[in-house]
Amino acid sequence: MNDVVFRKAEYDYAVLKPAVFDMIDSICGTSIEKGMKVLIKPNMLLPAKPEFAVISHPLVVRAAAEYVLEKGASVQISDSPAVALFDKILRDGGYRKAFQGLDVEFKMFKTSVKVDIKEPFGFIDISKDAMEADYIINIAKLKTHAQMFLTLGVKNLFGCIVGMKKPEWHLRSGISRKMFASLVVRICRAVNPQATIVDGILGMEGQGPGKGGTPRYLGMLIGGKSAFAVDVAICKMLGINPDILPTNKAAKEMNLTGYDINMTGDFKQVNNFVFPFRDPLVFGPRSIQKTMRRHFIQRPLADNSLCRLCGECWKYCPAGSIAYDKEKIIFDYEKCIRCYCCIEVCPEGALKAVETLPGKLIRKLLIK
Ligand code: SF4
Ligand code: SF4
Repeated sequence: MNDVVFRKAEYDYAVLKPAVFDMIDSICGTSIEKGMKVLIKPNMLLPAKPEFAVISHPLVVRAAAEYVLEKGASVQISDSPAVALFDKILRDGGYRKAFQGLDVEFKMFKTSVKVDIKEPFGFIDISKDAMEADYIINIAKLKTHAQMFLTLGVKNLFGCIVGMKKPEWHLRSGISRKMFASLVVRICRAVNPQATIVDGILGMEGQGPGKGGTPRYLGMLIGGKSAFAVDVAICKMLGINPDILPTNKAAKEMNLTGYDINMTGDFKQVNNFVFPFRDPLVFGPRSIQKTMRRHFIQRPLADNSLCRLCGECWKYCPAGSIAYDKEKIIFDYEKCIRCYCCIEVCPEGALKAVETLPGKLIRKLLIK
């Protein structure tokens, strides 16, 4: 049975640092050794202040880095952001300030190696740094995700796919959550982090994962050796059946985790956590799927009063389903695969996943 540790924590560094040290101690024991090259993989997807709860909080990452340095190992902190310059993310996300005086290397993932993650995907390009690190500490953010329901430890490793290869894989998985979950689980298995910590101190609820979600204070760090088990334990903390998270189901089917987790420390059930809508899936004959996609399943929608026509969403959209004129962006919902990358990358929080009226009626009639 896998162990998952819960620790009450806050971003006051005097409280946070011992909490992170304790957690890593209990997960890693004596396995981080002098001279090792340790890669820390936070969620640094886009430039966002920590109070938006979009990225892993820089102080959680700093505490982990200090722990590693005290063991005599070196620290590299890396991610492959969806948009913007890595430096801007470091600056706006508070990383530069938080890491003043600490000898660590910040490095964006740039080069990949081919890794066989097995059928149906075969060889896939994964960050060379991630595949060659001596040790990986995966530091994710606890957030909702309009497509994948939640984004936790396992999904954070999708960031080891470099740059624009990410939208390509979204497109190859298509609209199927099951297929995308299977892809993400295989990437996590290939990267194989030795420790996973999820920053659930200030988590996100509602229509995440971008700035359209709502920060929610939970005051908890959750960690373990297995990213799969950590995600299952977080579902238990949030009071939902772990099967609801497609990555949990895929990991269970691949025998990477069970749902019987030994949860230790400050475990406490969270009440009234607001999850994203679970929209009706596309089903039935192909001839009606186009209509369903257009009219029934939830979709990204822009608040034109917030949109600055910056272009990040249409540059990143894997399906090429966002056009624009002088005043607004325009979605092609037949092409859109509902990956919600656009919501994730929008720097203005102008995009949200919204249910269509017919979709809402169907959900009420058939699903709930
Ligand atoms: S919706 Fe967001 S990302 Fe897209 S153009 Fe507008 S501000 Fe930029
Ligand atoms: S419009 Fe948004 S949700 Fe649809 S495919 Fe493009 S990025 Fe994904």
